[in-house]
Amino acid sequence: MGRAFVYVILGGGVAAGYAALEFVKKGVSHGELCIISDEPVAPYERPALSKGFLLPEAAARLPSFHTCVGANEERLTPKWYKEHGIELVLGTGVKSADVKRKTLLTTTGETISYKILIVATGARALKLEEFGVSGSDAENVCYLRDIADANRLVNVMQSCPGGNAVVIGGGYIGMECVASLVINKINVTMVFPEAHCMARLFTPKIANYYEEYYKSRGVNFVKGTVLSSFDFDSNGKVTGVDLRDGTKLSVDMVVVGIGIRPNTGLFEGQLTLEKGGIKVNGMLQSSNSSVYAIGDVAAFPVKAFGETRRLEHVDSARKSAKHAVAAIMEPEKTGEFDYLPFFYSRVFTLSWQFYGDTVGEVVYYGDMSGSAFGAYWISKGHLVGAFLEGGTKEEYEAIAKATRLRPEIEDLTELERQGLKFAVTV
Ligand code: FAD
Ligand code: NDP
Repeated sequence: MGRAFVYVILGGGVAAGYAALEFVKKGVSHGELCIISDEPVAPYERPALSKGFLLPEAAARLPSFHTCVGANEERLTPKWYKEHGIELVLGTGVKSADVKRKTLLTTTGETISYKILIVATGARALKLEEFGVSGSDAENVCYLRDIADANRLVNVMQSCPGGNAVVIGGGYIGMECVASLVINKINVTMVFPEAHCMARLFTPKIANYYEEYYKSRGVNFVKGTVLSSFDFDSNGKVTGVDLRDGTKLSVDMVVVGIGIRPNTGLFEGQLTLEKGGIKVNGMLQSSNSSVYAIGDVAAFPVKAFGETRRLEHVDSARKSAKHAVAAIMEPEKTGEFDYLPFFYSRVFTLSWQFYGDTVGEVVYYGDMSGSAFGAYWISKGHLVGAFLEGGTKEEYEAIAKATRLRPEIEDLTELERQGLKFAVTV
């Protein structure tokens, strides 16, 4: 039993949704495109899961955040896919792939063949067990990657109003979930191994701003240590968190955000891998010319840095998807993907954006005791990165533009004096 398509997108997340819209814009014919996803719903804006989805009132629920609302584009509901003749195979995993025969075998036993495959399998959340701690299956231990996880997190949160939560991990999931838990009136202790939160992006000074704000909202921090074990009650629920530094915390619930691993397993030994992802060229094409990779799973050349990187953020998923489809449908009109890395987050009433790279010297500007401040990264005499908290749309556009231009910086003191004005006028 099997079906054949010209184009198959494997994975039904953010990148898949944006790729589908681009296929339609470029004139894909009815019956040519199929999307296979093990999630039971059409592609949606995953970032909503740690933000609007967790609000205590007027929480976001599907269909309101199907792709591509996050980029002010059409909202693609299942009806939209139907109307455009796109086959959505949902709730169905792909268990093996054969890139030589150009076939995929699904968990329902169907073989789906393709002429061109776009791999958009994203990533999975790392489990505590991978760090030698057991307890991930306990009913009050939550991860957050998909809708099922988010529903579970909401249920657990609602089961312990006014209760105590421990959030493990000081990255994006940790920061955003802590804010949502506090908004839901849960008391939170945040535990992470580094000296400060968001260690891979924030400098100690920037991190301090957010940590102080979180403290003012009642959040406790336990830094520089990791979980060593959980205590359980007779029903298998976690009641205590034991840390390696000897601290013991009583809990009603635990949220874990300790990083991800790209879903490359189906292609190991078949495609070239790099930086934990599928290595692609500037057309998002892998070592097999019929296979493209986009989103979290793709390791692509970032021109500005002159090296291959794998990015785990929604903007790169959206733009790599768009570019891959252009490269497939209009190869003669499509150049190499030229992407400026862009990360952002929104927590409580705070909101920041970052463009570029965090290498070199850092120059801060603005009022770090107020609501708007920023930083520039200068490497080899050029501006290579820019961060801004509390900016307006125009100011964010200005720091993005300035970073893309990589202007020469001769005088760091003058840059500090000019602050945001430098980006606005460059
Ligand atoms: P995904 O969106 O993860 O989609 C992958 C899809 O493939 C999933 O549907 C998965 O089920 C499916 N799949 C995988 N393997 C198989 C298989 N074998 N068979 C069938 N289907 C399969 N980024 C930001 O920049 N800003 C944010 O604010 C932000 N917030 C986030 C909040 C949360 C809670 C999470 C989890 C991530 C957030 N991100 C954010 C990151 C962003 O969502 C990802 O970078 C983006 O979703 C990547 O898109 P993708 O399509 O590559 O992968
Ligand atoms: P991150 O990589 O952002 O952060 C993981 C954090 O957990 C790091 O602080 C890491 O420390 C720490 N950690 C690692 N191992 C342990 C351990 N054993 N015990 C305690 N802490 C540990 O991943 P997240 O899980 O926060 O996010 C998952 C994905 O979702 C990422 O791809 C992220 O980009 C994405 N996301 C993005 C958002 C955004 O862009 N606004 C919002 C939410 C999610 P170390 O650095 O030392 O490894």
